[in-house]
Amino acid sequence: MTTIVPPRERECERCGRTDVWNDDSGTWAVVERDGERLSGDPFCLHEWDINGAYNPLEEGA
Ligand SMILES: [Zn+2]
Repeated sequence: MTTIVPPRERECERCGRTDVWNDDSGTWAVVERDGERLSGDPFCLHEWDINGAYNPLEEGA
């Protein structure tokens, strides 16, 4: 099963912070879900799940 991760969204694999790309401001913005900001751990060295070579055609190992 292959999960398609849109390149305009990223999630930290360490703390769960989730951002979406904001076209208007040209920056990442923290996602709000159910009225809660998914800002994760402010001291986390975020490990984004889209780091490195993003390749939607490559299936996960
Ligand atoms: Zn993090």
